[in-house]
Parts: sequence; structure tokens; C-alpha cells
Amino acid sequence: MFLHAPVTAPADVPPLNGEPLPLEFVNTVFPVRGTLRDGLRTPEHLIWWLRSCRGRLATDLPDDALNGITPTDTHCFILLRDAAHRLVSAYVHEREPDGWDVAQINRASSMGRPWPLLRWEADGTPSSVEVSITPPVLAVQAEIAHALIRVLDGTSGLEPRACPAPGCVFFFDHARSRREWCSTGCGNRARAARHYARHHRTA
Ligand SMILES: [Zn+2]
Repeated sequence: MFLHAPVTAPADVPPLNGEPLPLEFVNTVFPVRGTLRDGLRTPEHLIWWLRSCRGRLATDLPDDALNGITPTDTHCFILLRDAAHRLVSAYVHEREPDGWDVAQINRASSMGRPWPLLRWEADGTPSSVEVSITPPVLAVQAEIAHALIRVLDGTSGLEPRACPAPGCVFFFDHARSRREWCSTGCGNRARAARHYARHHRTA
């Protein structure tokens, strides 16, 4: 049974580009040999992605929770990802968003409701810890939705952009590096395409 097998990546896993998590999540639709693939299309793919991103989540996502992921969970993540993808696309292209997609994000956002518990440390210092009764797999969806809302309402400081390189479908955070492409490879390809177009225009 795959759930307890050694951790190996299933075929065609999405790239991890080092973007902030909401954009990394949106970028789980990616091209393989010219065809778009869904990087979350099976429980194995979703488990791989969540395990790979676990260190960047505030939600505690233990192995037990990952191993319990079902095809239904996968559908929920895909619904959320597709809505997020369309909303980020609407945002960067300054198009009107679909109300359905806004509703999907808000539905996911309302699923995780952590609350603070007050603690008094032995040294007399008050502190707090966040607790939740939301199952971790739902809490992760809420966490991603919260982060996405902060991207779209402008409070995250991120500047999502669509990579303009030929054939690239990724979004990236322009605020992080001020670069114009999602990667060095895309920058090189875009420059080569521009050079080619210029050369053939003047030939
Ligand atoms: Zn790119």
C-alpha cells in the first residue's frame, strides 16, 4: 500500500520554484512536454506536494494526517487550486473575477479557526499558543486560502505576475527579486526569442 511505502515522488510532480506558498500552490498546474499537467491529480501527488511544503506551513501536518488523505481531499484541493489559479490570473490581467471563485476561497478560509490560549510561563511571562480542532488537512486549505486572500487584498506585500516567457504558465512574486521572469531559464529563453525576432525582422 502506497501510504506506508518509502517516500518516493510519483511521476510528473509539480516544480517547487521557491515562490511564496499561495503562488507555489497555484503553480501546481504546469507543462510537461508541451501539455499541461495537474500536479495534485492523485492522493499520492497531493501527499508529495504537502510533504514537500510542510516546513513552510504554520499548520502542524503530521504523517498520520498525510497518510489519511483520500481522493475526496484531493478533489477539495483541486477545487481550491483552480479557483485560486483563476483569481490570481484575473488579478494579474486586471479582469473581473468570477464570484464562484471568490466563494470557493472564502469557503476554504472559514474552515480553519484557530484560537489563542493564554499561558503563564514559569518565569512569570505571559504567552499564548494557537490551538484548533480543525483536522489538519482542512486547516491547511484554510491556511492557503488565508494567504491567498492576503495576496489579493494587497496586505501580503507580494506582487504576483504571470511569467511572460514563451510557453511558461507560472506566476511569480515580482516584489521578491524585481526580476521580469519566473526563473533565470525563462529570462534566457525570452531574451533568445526577442533576439531571434529582431534578427528575422531585419534580415
Ligand atoms: Zn517562466
